[in-house]
Amino acid sequence: MLFREFAELCDTIEKTSSRLAMADLLAEVFPTLSADDLPIFVRFSRGKIFPDWSAEKLGFGPGLLYEALAYVIGKKRETVVSAINSSGDTGRVVEGLLEKREQTMFFSEELELLDVHSRFVQMANTSGRKSQQERMRSAQYLFSNASPLEGRYLARLMLEEMRIGVGEGVVREAVAKGFAVPEETVEHAHQALNDLGEVALLAKTNPSALAEVHITPFRPVKMMLAQAGSIVGMVETHGSVAAENKYDGSRFQFHKVGDRTAIYSRRLEEMTKSLPDVVALLAAATNHDVIIDGEVIAMQDGKPMPFQTVLRRIRRKHDVAEAAGAISMQPRVFDILVCDGETLIDKPLSERRRILESVMKEFVAPQMVSNSPEDIERYYHAALDDGNEGIMLKVIDSPYLPGNRGKLWIKIKPEVDTIDLVVTGAEWGEGKRAKMFGSFLLACQDENGDLLELSRVATGIDDAMLAELYELFKDKIIAEHGKTVVFEPDVVFEVGYAELQRSTNYAAGYALRFPRFVRLRDDKDPSEIETAGSLARRYSMQNKAGQ
Ligand code: ATP
Repeated sequence: MLFREFAELCDTIEKTSSRLAMADLLAEVFPTLSADDLPIFVRFSRGKIFPDWSAEKLGFGPGLLYEALAYVIGKKRETVVSAINSSGDTGRVVEGLLEKREQTMFFSEELELLDVHSRFVQMANTSGRKSQQERMRSAQYLFSNASPLEGRYLARLMLEEMRIGVGEGVVREAVAKGFAVPEETVEHAHQALNDLGEVALLAKTNPSALAEVHITPFRPVKMMLAQAGSIVGMVETHGSVAAENKYDGSRFQFHKVGDRTAIYSRRLEEMTKSLPDVVALLAAATNHDVIIDGEVIAMQDGKPMPFQTVLRRIRRKHDVAEAAGAISMQPRVFDILVCDGETLIDKPLSERRRILESVMKEFVAPQMVSNSPEDIERYYHAALDDGNEGIMLKVIDSPYLPGNRGKLWIKIKPEVDTIDLVVTGAEWGEGKRAKMFGSFLLACQDENGDLLELSRVATGIDDAMLAELYELFKDKIIAEHGKTVVFEPDVVFEVGYAELQRSTNYAAGYALRFPRFVRLRDDKDPSEIETAGSLARRYSMQNKAGQ
């Protein structure tokens, strides 16, 4: 397939607002694609270059993009930057600049979808001293051979943000329609494979195998998540439920086959080198080949430590040895997804729990099963007294649903109104803080993953954190207008607030009253931030509570 055809289809989809129409369009195209093109097409349509289970990154920031483009259009980098500053939609600006390009390319070749993909893979895989140069060369090659419309989507792919409104749901629907397989089968295969590209390929080449897919070791799957809820509500609906501590730590998924082991973070990044002690503890605790779900906590003198402090140390890679020595990292495991080659996610929690207890000699998180709200309430207070965040309540016969945030897992914790939002920009500070960002612009997401701005936050950030934030954001600047900076939306803040108010000042239609920075949530991916739907629910709950 030519990249031009891909770009034209994206343009058509971008002009379409109905999800159904988008799915229909994709369903028509999918069966016509070759087995090589299909998975790439599927990933590209969602702005992904690699499968979701892979933490591989293109390593191509906005800075390189501007430079490559400036070279190709024969203009200064500043010209590109100022055009982007006055728009904000990098893709459209690139398109406009390519339209005006002075040097016509005599030897321009038609780009193939596969060619674009392999250039991206090369970009991701280069390392060492010359890697930036090599990435630059690949980007120059791509832009020189791109038509303006192709340029729009090349730029967006490089920033891994397609802005055409195609989410996971649309692709799943399209695969189901295009290859005439039930949508539940597609969804199930997607949960296990964690790559819609591969799911689409299977649907094309071997649809009967879709229902049989297994979780593959060393390809992490998304983690199951929880909603807020109440003890009484859970017991009324389900009778007996399983209660566990909600540990204040960091989520992990541990994979082991024979002597090979790996541990992944909630964002599915491999953390094996950063958590060697935890890996060793887990590996020694079982003789089986397993994929296990749990939380790592930091203990000092037998007590859990606030995890954020520890996490920061882990992240500074050179401090690993020191961090491991001073504080002990301890796993708590609460679920098992695979045991000795058998995928267990469809089995009920009670059964998985039994298997977990039989294969792990240590570290299984204690669990209480009860239908008494009073007993669970007592369990909750004991959990808080022990330094935990609260408790988790889980439906005993529930399957493990990767990536699902449903009502099967409920979290109970003290009422604090905080909200996770992505940082989309900032303003430079004043006075002695002039060289740092002073206030940050925050956004939630709509159902397509498009960002809606909601508030600014400046309170609650001390000098040390401001300096850390400067380091974190300085390479994420996409554009600058006077004192205002636009960031690649990549970093999640947890923000506290007093009240949610209706507002016409922000695209989300709400604003936070007295927003205050609580902490960085770098264990969270921007796709996990607050949605417009849950914001509306918060607003109506808040108003009900006030009546
Ligand atoms: P919060 O912001 O309240 O920490 P969250 O948004 O990180 O929640 P949730 O899905 O709401 O994520 O809560 C589940 C998280 O709680 C898990 O990702 C995990 O890190 C943590 N956790 C701690 N103990 C448990 C447990 N026993 N079972 C499941 N998750 C647990």
